[in-house]
Amino acid sequence: MTVYEDYANRFVEKNNLGPEHISVQFMCIVEELGEFAKALSEGDKHDQACELADLLFTVFVMAELLSVDVLTSFIRKSEINLTKSNRTSAGKIKK
Ligand SMILES: [Mg+2]
Repeated sequence: MTVYEDYANRFVEKNNLGPEHISVQFMCIVEELGEFAKALSEGDKHDQACELADLLFTVFVMAELLSVDVLTSFIRKSEINLTKSNRTSAGKIKK
């Protein structure tokens, strides 16, 4: 278990969270994404780092609730993403 998974697992156990909390956890992810967007627009690096950490934490908690190995999936998807190099007119990288 990684340190990320350990923190998320401890949070889930401490708060008695389970699959019935997946919808609420999804809203937590959206909330943290909004806070990160606000920090980006305001340009404060400390706030950006804190809100990005909050966002990652909520994602790791979601992975715990779903019982998915998000780090293995991250590596697999990253290998796929590294094969992409075409940039759209909006700047997004895609196949
Ligand atoms: Mg936050």
